Amino acid sequence: MLLLLPTATYRAADFLTAARALGAEVVVASERRLVSIGDAQLTLDLCRPEVAAEAIAAVAAESPLDAVVAVEVPHDELIRRLSGRLVCRSCGAMYHAASNPPEHAARCDRCGGDLYQREDDLPDRIAVRLALHAREVAPVEEFYRACGLLRAVQGTGTQDDVFGRIRASLP
Ligand SMILES: [Zn+2]
Repeated sequence: MLLLLPTATYRAADFLTAARALGAEVVVASERRLVSIGDAQLTLDLCRPEVAAEAIAAVAAESPLDAVVAVEVPHDELIRRLSGRLVCRSCGAMYHAASNPPEHAARCDRCGGDLYQREDDLPDRIAVRLALHAREVAPVEEFYRACGLLRAVQGTGTQDDVFGRIRASLP
């Protein structure tokens, strides 16, 4: 399994846990090596998608891909998830107003620092980010759909729901 993760994502550990639960051999592709991850890694320049795509094609030539899973979540649901995000001004710890709230409102559990909402996480900014993301991802999905490898999976519901759908979609 090739996991494409920006180095900055705070969900890297969750994705990796889920991939291991699938019993998959995991290769993590990111902009730089992640110290915390012991598996095979591939360093990609995600800011230059065409260069990254060539690197992935080289890997796929040696270990052919069985499937490309696209987890799809409606935009209003993504906006709800992202707009609840809170970040600590001192240590950078992340919280979520609904799914991972701090013990004391607006205070970091780890260091007591102030929590704030990044400007990027305000609903109108999120809408702009999502539109840009959709435009960038569409050609990639189209490419793998044409190869017959794309499995589109609904990303709504519980983690178990999504996990079950991903598992059922795989060959
Ligand atoms: Zn903190």
